[in-house]
Amino acid sequence: MAEDKNNNIDDKEKKLNGFVDDTTDSDESDDGDYEKVCFVCRRNERTAGRMISMPGGIDVCSDCLQKAFNTFGNMDPSMLPPEMQGMTGAPWMTGIPGMTGMPGGFTNSAAKASEDDSEDASKGDGRKSGQGIPNLSFINLGDLTGFGREIPKRQKVKKKKDDVKEVFDRNKVPAPHKLKAMLDEYVVGQEKAKKAISVAIYNHYKRVGSDNKDGIEIEKSNMLLLGPTGSGKTYLVKTIAKLLDVPLAIADATSLTEAGYIGDDIESVVSKLLAEADNDVEKAEHGIIYIDEIDKIAKKKNTNTRDVSGESVQQELLKMLEGSVVEVPVGSNSKNAMVPMATVDTTNILFICGGAFPGLEEIIKERLNEKSSIGFEADLKDKHDEDKNLLTKAKVDDLRKFGMIPEFLGRLPIIVSLETLTKDFLVRILTEPKNAILSQYKKLLAMDEVQLEFSEGALEAIAEKAMEKNTGARALRSILEEFMLDIMYEIPKDDNIGRVVITKEYIENTGGPIIEMRGMETTALPQKD
Ligand code: ADP
Repeated sequence: MAEDKNNNIDDKEKKLNGFVDDTTDSDESDDGDYEKVCFVCRRNERTAGRMISMPGGIDVCSDCLQKAFNTFGNMDPSMLPPEMQGMTGAPWMTGIPGMTGMPGGFTNSAAKASEDDSEDASKGDGRKSGQGIPNLSFINLGDLTGFGREIPKRQKVKKKKDDVKEVFDRNKVPAPHKLKAMLDEYVVGQEKAKKAISVAIYNHYKRVGSDNKDGIEIEKSNMLLLGPTGSGKTYLVKTIAKLLDVPLAIADATSLTEAGYIGDDIESVVSKLLAEADNDVEKAEHGIIYIDEIDKIAKKKNTNTRDVSGESVQQELLKMLEGSVVEVPVGSNSKNAMVPMATVDTTNILFICGGAFPGLEEIIKERLNEKSSIGFEADLKDKHDEDKNLLTKAKVDDLRKFGMIPEFLGRLPIIVSLETLTKDFLVRILTEPKNAILSQYKKLLAMDEVQLEFSEGALEAIAEKAMEKNTGARALRSILEEFMLDIMYEIPKDDNIGRVVITKEYIENTGGPIIEMRGMETTALPQKD
């Protein structure tokens, strides 16, 4: 038993002699591009500062090391192992071989704090009671790994290059008209929204790349998109992020709750963005966060209970929209001791919020009607009642009435409304975009050398069906899938089929599609049941 102990101490000393300065990468750190994580507090290098690497792949930050020193330094000698008890007062810490200074190159705060003491120790003279460098052999590395903890893996967070001031290359961001032209290929209509988002993005990245030496600080161009479900809010943001190749995180405001309540806390969206950026903090800090269903966190009217999901969430979001430094778990959305943390600055993250704001139209109408009922605009009153695009007339005041707090709205200086999708709009969405749903089906059948066509009437019938569902363009895909299932199943059965025409009758369940055999005359498939 006693022998074991001695061996243990020997081992410990050996390990301590292997103390490595983190300026030279240890064997395990051939992935030197990645940050180390403190074994004790789990913070990463960016947060906790330089790490001291120990054998066995353990890294400890200087704060934790200091804490350990302090603990041992203040320890009552009676609590010491029996073999140490003969030593009286602080001198129990002296005269320990190898403890006359910190390991080579160790210049962190722990070392500095203990500098004087280590000098004293080398002289072996009296020391201030309760201070000084403890016998580092007390840090039993063997025990550390026995806590049931695993040695944290090198955190997959790219080191920030201190010498290069992180500047997003704004020359890479196309001018607004070019951005809009790129968007035009994918997003049908919504001209105003496409223009606004192109300008906002362009200015945002100009702001990111600018310095404010001249004292002029460009304000953030966070946006608020208003538009009914399925009008393409998310699609617009997704498309622009893809075109610019910047990471995008999409979150749902309904799942966000104030810290400490059940649900995702606000910081989880930043964590998501970090994951989208392959845990590259710098990349994430230039990304976009889209928060959908933002209207669901409107202040509740006449509520006596604490408004957990409404106003308080808006309050918490404020800080992030403006720019704050948040500590988020890496590779997981739960904060616990096992998950390494990364620090992300949200100053250069573009926030786009979107929502359908049901009921906002009534508020707008009320305001417009108030104005109309007096004076010469009285005849406009009825017009507002029929206006399908009332949302485009939304003002900050209307949104405030809806329940968004003024400070929150103040952080979203650009408010853009998307148009409600009409039947014609839906037909265009079916056919015009670069990767339109119809083109996708056509491509699939072309692989079987079958030509797929849709009659004008069929397109309109699909759009009408989609309108009935009231979920905007989102309904198009599900309707098409329903009708295309039989086609995609039946056609490959017969190699002789050369052309298929989807007819209005097929969509309206009154007939079938037209099937043409290769080099033969037209036949018709039975209607869908
Ligand atoms: P929202 O976020 O407004 O509820 P989405 O962005 O999710 O709506 O839109 C649903 C789908 O409808 C998108 O994935 C996209 O395929 C299609 N869509 C909507 N609007 C357009 C548009 N203007 N141009 C092309 N496709 C669109």
